[in-house]
Amino acid sequence: MTVIPEIENMQREAVLWRHEFHANPELRFDLPRTSARVADLLRSFGCDEVTQGVGQSGVVAVIKGREPGNRSIGLRADMDALPISEMTNVPYSSGISGKMHACGHDGHTTMLLMAARHLAQNRAFSGSAVLIFQPAEEDGGGAKAMIADGLFNRWPVDEVYALHNMPAMAVGSFAIRPGPLMAAADMFEIRLLGQGGHAAQPHLCVDSVMAAGHVLVALQTLVARSVDTLQSAVVSVGKLSTDSAGACVLPGVVTLNGTVRSFVPSVQDLLEDRLCTLVRGIAQTHGATAEIRYDREAKATVNAPDQTRFAVSVARTISAEVDETTPQVMVSEDFSEMLALRPGAFIFIGNGLSAPLHHPAYDFNDAALPFGASWLAGLVMAR
Ligand SMILES: [Zn+2]
Ligand SMILES: [Zn+2]
Repeated sequence: MTVIPEIENMQREAVLWRHEFHANPELRFDLPRTSARVADLLRSFGCDEVTQGVGQSGVVAVIKGREPGNRSIGLRADMDALPISEMTNVPYSSGISGKMHACGHDGHTTMLLMAARHLAQNRAFSGSAVLIFQPAEEDGGGAKAMIADGLFNRWPVDEVYALHNMPAMAVGSFAIRPGPLMAAADMFEIRLLGQGGHAAQPHLCVDSVMAAGHVLVALQTLVARSVDTLQSAVVSVGKLSTDSAGACVLPGVVTLNGTVRSFVPSVQDLLEDRLCTLVRGIAQTHGATAEIRYDREAKATVNAPDQTRFAVSVARTISAEVDETTPQVMVSEDFSEMLALRPGAFIFIGNGLSAPLHHPAYDFNDAALPFGASWLAGLVMAR
């Protein structure tokens, strides 16, 4: 039970790649430097095929094994950073103010590069590995863009796998579960339209603030009273704003922005339907009207049972700490788009005692690199 020795031997060089990505964070689809560096490294490893500009700024590489076989496995890493100002004080801190790798995608990219180099050198596997470097995981859209650009038609794969680092899990440990692992994320915007006026003369107005107060409280009854008590879901309002000029002005419009999280499609459908009915009813009661925008931004990340068992078996060749019944988490991940089209699995890998994800003091733990890279390469070698 150990990491792949050839991968461990790459550590010093790989840490330099990781720190270079970290010092030069790029956002969303705008990844000219990161994607060019990834493509250059992949070419230097001798990959059979390297294609840039997939889904705007994604990179896809193919490595063919020398054993006979037609199976193909997709391995995916995300490359984008976050609009956060870094407060780590590490020597390779972000050189760009207001941007940082606060989710460890610099580490994920580096782990997949290490796996690519090992697979390109070793080739002791059948079929082919398709390495997928994705833009715009944060706020989503990158996986969809690559799929819309023909990802799985141009590079057919039988299965897909990916990982994410997890702070507070020990370095070298893995955690996964079959079925839904991460939640579907829906975003909503509710605009309550009333009749503005003087706050001292509410009888001459239609008070959209009052309607918003009732909506805000009633939204919490969706999970408590409508969803099966044995299912999980969350409804949160993160932003509430008005067009009011101040304390003595009742606004014409109040806007509530929030998110709905769930794991199964029946609960997701129910929540969307009930939210719209509830909000329209409350608005009408107050003499106001409601405009609702409801977007299903990310699907639930659902691990296929067979591929999860396989992912666990490969992790067990690397680590003694593999939890195969880890609890579900309510955050979401746009690898779900790929898992909706191909069977596969998404696994968490320990980042040690770091700050939480998306925190200005967060940093990816370089000690985790050989574990993640060995798991990614190991999937291809073992399948
Ligand atoms: Zn993130
Ligand atoms: Zn992330």
